[in-house]
Amino acid sequence: MKLLPFLLLLASPVLAAENRDAIFQKSIEAMFPKLVEIRRDIHMHPELPNEEVRTSKLVADRLKELGFTDIKTGVAKHGVVALLKGANDSPCVAVRADMDALPIKELRSTPYRSRNPGVMHACGHDVHTTCALGVAELLSKHKDLVNGSVKFLFQPAEEAMPATFKGDWGAKLMVAEGVMENPKPAAVFGLHTTATVQPAGVTDDAVHYLKAGQIGYTPGIDNANSDRFHIIIHGKMAHGSAPHKGVDAIAVAAEAVMALQMIKSRQTNTRQPLVISIGTIQGGDRENIIADKVELGGTVRTYDAKFRDGVIEQMHRILKGITEAHGASYEMEYRKTYPSIHNDLKLVEDTLPAFRRVVGEKNVIQLIPGMGGEDFSFFAQVVPGFYFRLGVANEEKGIIHGGHTPMYDCDEEAIKTGVAAMAAAVCDFLDRAAK
Ligand SMILES: [Zn+2]
Ligand SMILES: [Zn+2]
Repeated sequence: MKLLPFLLLLASPVLAAENRDAIFQKSIEAMFPKLVEIRRDIHMHPELPNEEVRTSKLVADRLKELGFTDIKTGVAKHGVVALLKGANDSPCVAVRADMDALPIKELRSTPYRSRNPGVMHACGHDVHTTCALGVAELLSKHKDLVNGSVKFLFQPAEEAMPATFKGDWGAKLMVAEGVMENPKPAAVFGLHTTATVQPAGVTDDAVHYLKAGQIGYTPGIDNANSDRFHIIIHGKMAHGSAPHKGVDAIAVAAEAVMALQMIKSRQTNTRQPLVISIGTIQGGDRENIIADKVELGGTVRTYDAKFRDGVIEQMHRILKGITEAHGASYEMEYRKTYPSIHNDLKLVEDTLPAFRRVVGEKNVIQLIPGMGGEDFSFFAQVVPGFYFRLGVANEEKGIIHGGHTPMYDCDEEAIKTGVAAMAAAVCDFLDRAAK
């Protein structure tokens, strides 16, 4: 009789999961030096979207070394998809990691800084790829503790192509090429690093302030619909001394830039989050020539898809009105680039206990949705998805700079957290699905 409570305890899923966490933790410690080596290798050799030839080879080679036999390369250009196969009728879950870098010149002087001039892993995708390879290694070593199949999606081209780019790329193209079928995962998980530390005295919305050892999440909406636009304003060339003989595209563009900002401040409900940013402007050939053409490029961020359609109409109305008023004309190419991520509420709720076991309750932090964009949403439109944040900031090490800046870096200790959290989330999910 005395044995009964003990046996019941052993059969408890919580205890089983805790035991598994402890086994994983030991393995992760042993794997860590190699993971750091992989991360630095990727960091030193960053590649732009749709150019991830070396990174994709590194990933495929590593998966082969780990004993994976089901590996597809060349998916959506340079993507890699690998399957860790469980029992035949067991459930499947997907883990996604993005692999591309940004056109930024790295300013840190670490020994592992970028060797590719003007290109940098300034969004942490080197760490995302490393964490997914870590999970692949860990779960392949402990297949007996994994209650199903795990599909690894190593994705190219997350950082988006220009509005003028023809065709699809990245996650959307991977989905179109069938990565969410055969087998179809029942859920998809992804993580993203965040290194920003809350500045002293700033008590704003604390969107993404996470230190290494912390995990952040948003139930429901996580980020914004992220779009791109490209505008051409056509005027008429004339001598700079006789502007009345032409139509000055630069003067018209200047007016358009200011008026487009009025959509947010004066023409939409202030309770609807909206960003309209113009990031590029080009025009003119010479100081004394009235420019006949100006090109503008920018991004629009919203949460609500219908509201976004209204903003696009307002942009057209403004551009039409201003150009007509001055005898100019315009063209606008508007691309609804990435839909916003909606984290599945049930999946979030079911996964949080795994995170709390791995990093402790106080280090699992609910965040406020941001205005960033991410194409993980295309996977999460097919099956329930959960995209969470991995804290990588470390003030003592000077790792406090935001993504998409030349000082971005990640505290490598966070790789352990990333692997442990993702592995626990995936294994817990398969435990529930296998029941
Ligand atoms: Zn990015
Ligand atoms: Zn990113």
